[in-house]
Amino acid sequence: MLSMDNLVDATLSLQSRGDVQTCTTWKAPIIWEGMFEAYLYDKAHKRKKSSVAVTVFAVGKYLEAYLETFLYSSEQHFMLGLPVTYYVFTDMPEKVPHIVLGPKRHLKILSVHRHSRWQDISMMRMKTISDIIQTEIRYNFTHVFCFDVDQKFTGRFGSEALGDSVALIHAYYYRLPKSMYTYDRNPNSKAYMETGDFYYHAAVFGGTWKNVKAVTDACYKGIMEDKENNVEALWHDESHLNKYFWLNKPSRLLSPEYCWDDSIGYRTDIRVKRLLWAPKDYENLRTNN
Ligand code: UDP
Ligand code: MN
Repeated sequence: MLSMDNLVDATLSLQSRGDVQTCTTWKAPIIWEGMFEAYLYDKAHKRKKSSVAVTVFAVGKYLEAYLETFLYSSEQHFMLGLPVTYYVFTDMPEKVPHIVLGPKRHLKILSVHRHSRWQDISMMRMKTISDIIQTEIRYNFTHVFCFDVDQKFTGRFGSEALGDSVALIHAYYYRLPKSMYTYDRNPNSKAYMETGDFYYHAAVFGGTWKNVKAVTDACYKGIMEDKENNVEALWHDESHLNKYFWLNKPSRLLSPEYCWDDSIGYRTDIRVKRLLWAPKDYENLRTNN
């Protein structure tokens, strides 16, 4: 029996995709095109009055490079028909572009300190997300989704992705053997793990506000303990996220359709690209000052 985030999950067709894994060993569904009826999910979540808070960070040069495309494309594809509020965290609130939002959709701009190291900008998101859930999101939303800003929606990313605890399978690793997963291998780090289930991508995670609070609290705790011990996990917040989801199994996994990188090339099993990596330009965008 499939474990269910919602009754509508009983309509998922795990057999409709013979070419990919559609269910984990702990019976969480892995969402692929062809497995779900979009309108049934939308109907169920409207009835349940699901509402979604999105957190996205655009600090330093990432604001000008990515934020407008992220928000504009999200308005075309992300959770259409449901109430959505974007929580945009930036060090330059006045530079946030004006985007026309659909009905029941809102945007809030919040100031954050710009950490000098890009690794800290990325890792410290965990603390900021936890804080905004505690002070605000928990009172107004059922679900939270946390996104990197350097991406663009190109297809439906809808209510089929909502669940209690949602993790995304990293596009680079979904067909590779576990021995190639880049978990943190330093026993001195809190993110250390010998093995795991999947390699998850920190660019997208979500769940109920309660579960996302738990994820971000645990990751932040691990990050701070590492700092005290003068270690840093291999892939920063992503390493801690992988450790968390190894110890606390997600109830729902998103296939790499939900965060694809076109430079991987053509794959027959990727029938829909819902979110694409934007071109990376670390040289110019990541400043360490
Ligand atoms: N970020 C930011 N400014 C920076 C570095 C990072 O706003 O200078 C935020 C942004 O949301 C970005 C996320 O942190 O998408 C993670 O960083 P990045 O995308 O560079 O990591 P990668 O995708 O390479 O893992
Ligand atoms: Mn990114």
